[in-house]
Parts: sequence; structure tokens; C-alpha cells
Amino acid sequence: MSDRARNLLARYLQQRREIGEIEIVFSQDVHEVLSAIAAAPAAPIATPVAATVHPEPSAPAATRSLQVLGETAGKCTACRLAETRSTVVFGEGDPAARVVVVGEAPGAEEDRTGRPFVGRAGKLLDQLLASSGFPRETVYICNVLKCRPPGNRNPQPDEVESCNPFLKGQLQTIGPSAILACGTFPAQTLLGTSQPIGRLRRSSQSYEGIPLIATYHPAALLRNPSWIRPVWADLQRLRQIVDEADVE
Ligand code: SF4
Repeated sequence: MSDRARNLLARYLQQRREIGEIEIVFSQDVHEVLSAIAAAPAAPIATPVAATVHPEPSAPAATRSLQVLGETAGKCTACRLAETRSTVVFGEGDPAARVVVVGEAPGAEEDRTGRPFVGRAGKLLDQLLASSGFPRETVYICNVLKCRPPGNRNPQPDEVESCNPFLKGQLQTIGPSAILACGTFPAQTLLGTSQPIGRLRRSSQSYEGIPLIATYHPAALLRNPSWIRPVWADLQRLRQIVDEADVE
């Protein structure tokens, strides 16, 4: 291949990459493609990039969207919690998860590590999810608030309102088959109700068309081990919803 042809091909590939194409498949003989490119009006040739017909595929769209959302949250100062947090705990897990677990807000351990649902309550949640066929790495876990309220106090309404676009964005991006709302606060926030968790968990609920299972927070289970049985029943309903969605 001549230097001119190589440079033309490099420029062509660079232009296609700049408009967002991640994979270019030539349906014609490459020499025909080069002839067609060569016939195009000459333009100054930018610094050539290495000509790669099959560049590394970029991350899937959901991963990229969550990344951008997470970076925005990482710099967020929209409410007073920005002044007292150590770390923004955006959320983690499979961007294509069939289940999104939503808790209330980061606690001390989460604030320190930047990860949601760690510590004793997190370990219990992991065990319960795994025993229902949802190992932690297959779900997505986040909280209503991304920053820790000082002293683990209850979130304030204006803090929830400020932070809501992040949770909404996470749920819209992932589009799970079901949501598991762990605890009174996330259940009431997502459902826009003040009904008690005991009543919410016994009825069919949904958030913007996505089935929602309300259940007790794992930290509450550590204080009330007798609640493990009802939580187990809630997780079986979650399993059933996801299995049915898989069949459809
Ligand atoms: S809690 Fe949410 S809204 Fe408030 S500073 Fe943190 S990320 Fe921003």
C-alpha cells in the first residue's frame, strides 16, 4: 500500500471514529474502498492515527452512561451533605442487572469505602441475595442518597429531591426487571407514599412500570432476626418476577 493510500485510509478511519463508529466493516474489496477514498476531494491530512479496521469496542452504552452519571455525582454539591461526606457512594454492580437494590443512604463504612451495602448489613444482604439466586455481582446496588447524612440521621426531603435525578438516571439506564427497595425510606420514596413498610411489602408495587418489592433493610434484620423469614418470602417473589420476565 502506498503512503498516500495509507494516509487516506488512516484519515478515513479517524473520521469514522470521531463520529462514534466503533467497528467498521468493509463490504467491498479494500482496494475499491481505497480508490473511492482517493477519489474524494483532497483535504489537509491530520496527523495520521494508527489504522485499525477493528478498534477496541468501547464500553456498552449503559456502562458509559452510569460512568458519566457517577462522575457528575462525584462532584455534586447540590445539597448540604456535600459538606460532611468523605466519599460519594454512587452505586455499583452490573449495568445490565435484572435487579436493582435500593437502600436509604451510605453509613459510616460506606462513606469510608465508597461502596454501598458493606459491613455486617451488607454481608447479610449478599447472603440473602445469593441464596435467592442473585449473587452480588449480578445485581446493581445503590442508595436513594449518594452521600452520608451526619450521624446516620434521616434524609431530609430537600436532600432527597436534590439527589433524585441520580437514582432516576440509574434506574432508567439499567432498566431492570425488578427493584428491591430495602427499608421504609427507599420504599416510601420510590412509591411516593407514607404507608408503613409492613403494608408495602405485602402488596404489589411498581415504580414507573418496573415491579418493586419492598422489604426490610438488612440492618433491621440484624436487630430483629425473626424478620429473616418474611424477607426470604419477599426475595422469592422477586425471583418469581425476574424469572417470569426472562420467559417473556
Ligand atoms: S446527597 Fe446527592 S444531591 Fe446531595 S451532595 Fe450528595 S450527590 Fe449531591
